[in-house]
Amino acid sequence: MARIYANENFPLPVVLELRRLGHDVLTIQETGRAGQAESDESVLAFAKRERRILLTLNRRHFVRLHNEQSDHSGIIVCSYDGDFVGQAARVHELIDNNSEETGIGKMETMNGNPALDTMIDYWKSKPDSHIDVTGFSDDPHADLLVREDLFAFLMACCIDRGGKSTLIWRIPYKLKQAWGHLDPRIIRHMEPKELAANPVIAHAPGQISKFQIAKTIISLAGLVESEYEGCPERLLEGSATDIMDNLQDIFGVGPNIARMVVILRVLYFGLRPVGTDRLLPKMDVHVKRVMHRIGVVPDDSERSMRRALSGYSNEEIAAIDQVCWEIGQSLCTPTLPKCDMCPLTSPCAKAGVSG
Ligand code: SF4
Repeated sequence: MARIYANENFPLPVVLELRRLGHDVLTIQETGRAGQAESDESVLAFAKRERRILLTLNRRHFVRLHNEQSDHSGIIVCSYDGDFVGQAARVHELIDNNSEETGIGKMETMNGNPALDTMIDYWKSKPDSHIDVTGFSDDPHADLLVREDLFAFLMACCIDRGGKSTLIWRIPYKLKQAWGHLDPRIIRHMEPKELAANPVIAHAPGQISKFQIAKTIISLAGLVESEYEGCPERLLEGSATDIMDNLQDIFGVGPNIARMVVILRVLYFGLRPVGTDRLLPKMDVHVKRVMHRIGVVPDDSERSMRRALSGYSNEEIAAIDQVCWEIGQSLCTPTLPKCDMCPLTSPCAKAGVSG
């Protein structure tokens, strides 16, 4: 039996199961310290005084604290896992295996992966990881429109299927300038051929045909009007799986574009899909190459990716996706990767090895 202190937000069902397994678990709520914005240092100091192992979901801060001061009774860092009984069993097993010293000064991370943690830290430290400073296109007016108008945002995402992204993300703004509106009630009745001939679409970059782009835009407008009563927000309601399904009803939108939509909304707009379904990163060549080289997945299957990311939240997975994409297309190129400039060199299994 171990003395445990469960940090704020640690799932109560896991606490209850650990108690059932015989552990003495004290929650922060029971000490009356919950909801007081207590610092992580103070939480750890309390656990230390009480000689309790700290149980937390706050991976980043407590890994740092452990590196600064390891004279505590143990820290177990978990990721959120909807299988509460299974998670409690793994914590129990971990404590059991360390029973001789009850984890004194030990740091254990469950489901964590140093390479993925480094990616998340890198994302958090990036100055342009916030919506106010990130650029989707190279035109501030076009960026403002996709930030403020979800229909414009969805349009840009859905037609971003090859070609220079920064140019494609200008299209909703250019159409709005040309038409004086971006009204799905009107757009849904347009003819694909006519829309494809519109100069904005006719000069769109990329390999997909202009007719396909036009059909996608009209399909999005039709779906918003016929299924969601003109509210594009309703397309993004429900679990991650629900949202992915909704988006793939749009002509030409497959899983990767649907993932891009959800990932960008999670990262920049605070979308929080309900339930415990987890996102997957876009399975494009850049993401797969970085995930494989860095040693997180043995192959490029969805199954391996899902398994590697199972302990991470949707926000963390979205950050990992963005970092992989950015590094994959700029530094971790198919041949001659620029490892000396890469922020992932330290955890990367293939750092300095080309190909
Ligand atoms: S260290 Fe090199 S191989 Fe590893 S992710 Fe970075 S660029 Fe790619």
